[in-house]
Amino acid sequence: MTLHIPFDNSYARLPPAFYSAQAPSPVRAPHLVAFNQDLARLLGIAEADRKELAQVFSGNLLPEGATPIAQLYSGHQFGQYNPQLGDGRAVLLGETVGRDGQRRDIQLKGAGRTPYSRGGDGRAWLGPVLREYVVSEAMHALGIPTTRALAAVATGEPVYREGAMPGAILTRVAASHLRVGTFQVFAARGDRNSLKRLTDYAISRHFPDAEGPMGLLAAVRDAQARLIAQWMGVGFIHGVMNTDNCAISGETIDYGPCAFMDVFHPDTVFSSIDRMGRYAYSNQPDIAVWNLAQLATALIQQLDDPAGAVEEATEIVHAMPGLIRSAWLSVFGAKIGLPDATPQDVPLIEDLLRRMAENQADFTNTFRALARGDARDQFTDPTAFDGWETGWRARLPDEGQAAAAMDRANPAFIPRNHRVEEMIAAAVQGDYAPFHRLNAVLARPYATQPEQADLMRPPKPDEVVAATFCGT
Ligand code: AMP
Ligand code: MG
Repeated sequence: MTLHIPFDNSYARLPPAFYSAQAPSPVRAPHLVAFNQDLARLLGIAEADRKELAQVFSGNLLPEGATPIAQLYSGHQFGQYNPQLGDGRAVLLGETVGRDGQRRDIQLKGAGRTPYSRGGDGRAWLGPVLREYVVSEAMHALGIPTTRALAAVATGEPVYREGAMPGAILTRVAASHLRVGTFQVFAARGDRNSLKRLTDYAISRHFPDAEGPMGLLAAVRDAQARLIAQWMGVGFIHGVMNTDNCAISGETIDYGPCAFMDVFHPDTVFSSIDRMGRYAYSNQPDIAVWNLAQLATALIQQLDDPAGAVEEATEIVHAMPGLIRSAWLSVFGAKIGLPDATPQDVPLIEDLLRRMAENQADFTNTFRALARGDARDQFTDPTAFDGWETGWRARLPDEGQAAAAMDRANPAFIPRNHRVEEMIAAAVQGDYAPFHRLNAVLARPYATQPEQADLMRPPKPDEVVAATFCGT
């Protein structure tokens, strides 16, 4: 074997209560669909041929130094506590410390059954695997913290969903897979030793300057507050912000029924399983706070006097809405050309968003058009934009400078849902050209790419994707 991955597996060195040893289950005929060379280089992975990559990233061949495990966690799903979740279809091969000094997990998602699979088959199908590949890499290129995609492999085996679908495995790379739910499982069991051990581990891995459980809580809060504001700034709807899908590192994790909005409306929901709109676009800040409160509840269980810590924990959680608002203000300030926006600019931003919602303006294209002077064309009633523009221009410091800066804050390209669906439909037929094209264009989302203008176009009425389905 020529493929070399410089593993150093700190999580597998934690006590056995944290995981189950679990090898990936082999697949029949692995075929490499995509391999992310840039990311491989960053991770320190040496070159290998496509056959070998397919063997390793399907789980058929265990690379030297891997210690495959399925991680234990629990979580609140749509507000209901589920005492045992865990990696039901993912296997952590191990970790590497990359060329940038950052430690990252390398995980196979869709690698077969584990002790946490419950009724599931432990597998994934090609559609969600390619969706996560494209959207997570796009997120990274947009400058938003996220897990990444190292490889996608078709397994050559069917997976049964609504009919037989082609099976696939995604190799996911993450700063770690520690979630709010990783803390919740030990807190719920009253296992204070494991909770303490996990807290120390999370601090040393992600926030070495944080002091104790409350320091960790504040650090996670800050990272999550920035993340949510960045999602809002690109019109991203995560779709399943359960506590098991909320990463301690502050990365976006678990791309299931997620989507970027086309037409702006704050109540937009895509996920077919989110009937109450719990995870609607504009609810995301509140949900992030709710998730942090669950982390706080878990973390204080390790203290000798949990009741005495409630006040401090509450204070940390209560500061989060304000932190999200100020992060939101810098994100949206930059989008309208005001990099040093102050709270006095909030009404200006909110007024624009209200007019956009009333006029079915495309979120991405409207902001991108601000620097070009043709944003009014995005509004069903263009005078609604004119009514806002006067006040905005009066506030802009220097238009030339503002335009260049706005182009670095307002992407031209996002992974539009209808394009993602079109890409999946082609891939199922064996045509991966749209997949590769999306990846290439979305790697430079802020660049003007005139020859790719069709990927900027919002869906026509018959192309609109109304619901996205869970990543199973
Ligand atoms: P998710 O909605 O992807 O965050 O998954 C929630 C839980 O269901 C996690 O514990 C997953 O590991 C598990 N899960 C999702 N899909 C499957 C599957 N096909 N087989 C086994 N477990 C699964
Ligand atoms: Mg999950």
